[in-house]
This record gives sequence, structure tokens and C-alpha cells, in this order.
Amino acid sequence: MTSIKQYCNSLVQYSRRKTIEVKIGDVPMGADNPIRLQSMTTVDTMDTQGSVEQVLRMVASGCEYVRITAPSLKEAQNLDEIKKELRKRGCYVPLVADIHFTPNAAELAARIVEKVRINPGNYADKKRFEVIEYSDDAYEGELSRIRKKFTPLVNICKEYGTAMRIGTNHGSLSDRIMSRYGDTPLGMVESALEFLRICEDLNYYNIALSMKASNPQVMVQAYRLLVQKLDEEGFKPYPLHLGVTEAGDGEDGRIKSSVGIGTLLEDGLGDTVRVSLTEEPEVEAPVAKIMVDRYVARHHHKPIRPITEMPIDPFVYTRRVTREVSNLGGHHHVPRVISDLSQVEITEYKDLRSIGHFYLPEPDKWRMNDQGADYVYTGNKPIPFMLPNGLKEIRDYETWLYADDDVNKLPLFTKAEFEQAVKKHATINFIRLSIDDIDGNFLMQLKADATVVGLIESSNTHAMAEIRRMFFDLLSHHIDIPIIISGQYEVSDENTVRIHAATDMGGLFIDGFGDGVMLGVNGVTSNEEMLNWVDICNKTSFGILQATRNRMSKTEYISCPSCGRTLFDLQETTAMIRKRTDHLKGVKIGIMGCIVNGPGEMADADYGYVGSGPGKITLYRSKDVVKKNVSSKLAVDELINIIKEDGNWIDPEMIEKF
Ligand code: SF4
Repeated sequence: MTSIKQYCNSLVQYSRRKTIEVKIGDVPMGADNPIRLQSMTTVDTMDTQGSVEQVLRMVASGCEYVRITAPSLKEAQNLDEIKKELRKRGCYVPLVADIHFTPNAAELAARIVEKVRINPGNYADKKRFEVIEYSDDAYEGELSRIRKKFTPLVNICKEYGTAMRIGTNHGSLSDRIMSRYGDTPLGMVESALEFLRICEDLNYYNIALSMKASNPQVMVQAYRLLVQKLDEEGFKPYPLHLGVTEAGDGEDGRIKSSVGIGTLLEDGLGDTVRVSLTEEPEVEAPVAKIMVDRYVARHHHKPIRPITEMPIDPFVYTRRVTREVSNLGGHHHVPRVISDLSQVEITEYKDLRSIGHFYLPEPDKWRMNDQGADYVYTGNKPIPFMLPNGLKEIRDYETWLYADDDVNKLPLFTKAEFEQAVKKHATINFIRLSIDDIDGNFLMQLKADATVVGLIESSNTHAMAEIRRMFFDLLSHHIDIPIIISGQYEVSDENTVRIHAATDMGGLFIDGFGDGVMLGVNGVTSNEEMLNWVDICNKTSFGILQATRNRMSKTEYISCPSCGRTLFDLQETTAMIRKRTDHLKGVKIGIMGCIVNGPGEMADADYGYVGSGPGKITLYRSKDVVKKNVSSKLAVDELINIIKEDGNWIDPEMIEKF
């Protein structure tokens, strides 16, 4: 046990971290201001009209700040034209210049727009991907060089009242930071602190901070560590800008973003949110709004017992150690997906397609895709036909008592049923557990039974924290039964359910909790609609496990959101690459719009598809260039050839057509 390392106000009572207020035009951030929404344009910054129209669409969709890239002086200068035109059209949204590598563009932009974003990994450094050993003197020398290059920008910001974001990206840490801290959350934090120290020395505090990564686990750890370091080293509590970079598109992009951003929001961290999707920028703010709206009245939640000791290290991922019960728990089983079919009538084989199991009449066999559920929960609605081999059915205890199959049908007990049960399954017994069931005696009873698997749920509006509290109890009592995390959501639009579930469950898996997941919705009236929801919940469950890097069931795309630097249509290209490669389970493909930032930002991708000139693509294997400037017409074929050369290619199966 360790005492609580502070990275938030409370792990049990929702409370937003109190920060200083940062002035950004007329829309202040932090302190008691609402959590602000923002996004970034994708139009070329030199296209004034196109940029203005896009900004207006973004503002109409809920953006409170708009970021625009300024790769060089000419774009920085054109921000003035964009701003003038926006003001002429009655739009006063604060603009933020996005800067990489170009202090001169930053210094000009800081005189024009309300805020500049600098990347401490490349403001004064060129990325060389070299491992360089720095002596203490050489390191200090580098810091003095940075101070010299950065001080003029700080002075301009002070003079013009311009705000700044020091925005670290996991994928673009300087060689200096990499040499001393490696590719770690601590390196990310230190990268920002180097610049922050200079700002504070110059009495400049109009600053927000960010620690983005495309891996939500790394991102969450870095933000937590940042808060802790700010407190520890006596910095002011600066507002946090939250984001997951290169999250991709569609449901994957939404799930990945919610896992990272949502986990932090749950603990009261975050003063502005940018969701990065490889889609039109005006769809991003509505997604961010679904995330942040949950916290407007969150502090009224039912109280949760306080924590005095912290049984986990929140800065390092460690999976909770559990015993093995059948294919659940233990150290080598991936978390399982239980599909909740308790509110749907399953009458035909084809109904199981929604959970990734397909009956093929010709060979008279069942096949399963990479997102085939591991278990089904049918409550008191048993499935009337024999299930595919390996797919086990969980029934409510009372219904299970009458099952004719003692092996593949499994019971789900309440606490009272379990204590009075006349019959139990020989190998697996599931038990629903809420926070009121967690008492010392009962936990000891569970510990003594090698067949028990818990199914934890919460009806508290602060559900993630309540379930985490239960896990803390299990840890402190050394109860190692496997646990399924269950979430039930009122039916609404599918993005809302997806985002809320990914936030609550993702936040738990990020901390190493959970040996399985069961997700369901309430309030659906028709069977057909419910089958559709079963499909959504099944895919979302696999998506959450993938985003938290607990179980890879599909190809991972790390695609940038695009910006004024982008050299091809990212949405179209991502869709095209996805179409050809989305059966390559576990392979990570980076799709990046430009060669300036792309290679750095694509993090731990196995392969990279990076725009290197108009109509030209450079292909990477990890961080190494394999083919330079391939025509974009041939680039996807060439990418597939490289994947084939590495033995990572498999032909897509055709089971979906049945
Ligand atoms: S990687 Fe994408 S979002 Fe980042 S600077 Fe390049 S084009 Fe813009």
C-alpha cells in the first residue's frame, strides 16, 4: 500500500481541480469557467475564405477556440486576414496559432491571435532521431539555448496579452529529453516543465498545458504526473488542455478519445477538450460536448466511502493479479467480452451475427470473426438452440437451475442467492456485486471459492469512481477473484452510449482493472432495434479493450486529424487503407498528412503512410523509411507489399457474406 499520490482533488468525490484562470480573448479558461471545447482547422491557412468558412462552421458546432496551423511566416501573417474577415462577419472566437519548428512564425502570430501553441519538443530543436548522450554541462547548454530562443516569444505574449499552450506530444519529444528520460510520461512532463520554468522566471503565467499521446494509457499517465509535478515543484496550477492525438475516425476514434479524455475528466482534470478525429473538424466539438456535459452536475452524486490508502500506482500500468477461473483472469487471459442478450429474443442462428458469430450452412459450421463475444448473458431468456462450440451462456440463477446442460450453461447469482444456493456450477459461478455487497465477511467467502467470478456494477452517477472504490476494497482484502465490469446505459444516440461507456469502463481498464466487460442498454422497445444495440455494445466492448491496449482484436489506425499542412485527403485515404487492411488484427498503421510532424507523431505504429509532397507518399516500417516518394496511386499496394514481406499479411476471410 502507498499513501495517495495526489493527482486530483479526490478519487471518490467528483471535484474539478481548481486552476488559475487564463485569459484567451473574451473566453477565459480554467478556474470556475466551464470546460471549453475547441478544435483545429484543416483548410490551408493561406486560403483565407476557406479558413473563415470552416471556422464559422466549427463555431456553429460548439467550438469556443479555433486553432489554425502557422507553419511559416506567411501563414502566421495570413492569420491577420482570417481574423479580420471573421470579425467582419461578427465572429469573435479566439484564434490559436499552432506552431512547430518556427519561432519566427510564433513571434509574429503572437502579435495577431489570442493564443499560440508551441510544441516544446520542436520549438527550438530539430528532431534527428539520434540517441545522444548528454553530459550535465551539455544538457545545461541546451537549456540556455532554449531560453534564448524562447524568451522573445514570452515577452511578446506578455506585451500583447496573448495566451500560450505548452503542448507536449508523446511522438515528438526532443533528442535531449529522450536521452535523459526516454519515451516516457516523465519525459513528456519534463519537456513542458523546461519551458514552463522559463515562463515563470519571466513572470508570464497566461498558460495552459497539454500532454497528448495517441496511446490513451500513456496520455492519462502523463497528465496525472504533470499535475503531481506541478504541485510538487510549486508551480501554479495551470489549466489542462486534454486530447488524444491521432485517434482516427468513426467509432474507434470516439472510443479512443473517450478512454483518454474521459478518464481524466472523471477525476476532475481538464479545462478544455479537443477531440482529434480524422473527420471534418466541425464534428469534433459535438463529441467533446457529450464528454464534458456529464460533469455539469456530477458533484451531486451519491457519496462513496473515502480512501485513505491507495493500493495502486496511478502513474504506471499494472494489471490486477487475479486467479484463473476457466478462461477468465489469470495472467495470460485477455479480458473477455460478455454480450448482454437478456433483453432480446434470440430465435435464429443469424441473430448471433450481431455478436460476431456466423453460421455457415454449407459446411454446417459456426465461424467467428475477431470480435466474436466470448460469453452471452441471457438472463431469463435462454437461447433455444445449441450455441457455437466454445460460446458459453450465462443465465440468471433461477433460470439456470432448469438448464439441461451442466457444462455450457452457467449461473449468475445475486449475493443472497449465492449464500442460499441449493446448487452451483462445478467450475464457474458468476456473482453480481454492487458496493453494498462488498463487506469483509462476504469477500472472504468469495475468496474461499475457486469457482467465483464477480460481475461488478454501479448505479451511482459517479460510477467509474464507485467501481474503482470496489476494486480498491478487493485489493486491500487480497481478493483475487476475476471481475467482469458491467455497465448499463439508458438508450440514447449510439455515440453517447459509446462515449459514456468508453469513459467509465476505459478509466478502469487503464488502471489495470477488469477481466472482462459486459455492456448493455435499457429502454429499447423493439427486438430488431435491440439486436442493433447488441451489435453496437459488442463492438464498443472490443473497442474499449483495444483502446486501453488490453486486447487487440482489429487493426489499429493512428491517423492524424489533418491540418493546413496536410498533403492528401486524409479521410478518403484512411477509408481506402482501412478497406484493404482492417482484417489485420493487432497491426498498427500510422496515416499522417505531412512528413514534417507525421513520422514523430505516429508513435508506436508498425507501418507508416506519410504525405511527403503533392501526390507523393513515403512509407515507413516503424520509424524507418522503407520507400520514399511513392506515387499516391501505388502507395497502398506498396504498403501491403511491405506488410507481406514482413509476414504480417493474411488474406481477408469472406465469412461476413453469409
Ligand atoms: S501530422 Fe497531420 S495534423 Fe500533424 S502537422 Fe502533419 S498534417 Fe498536420
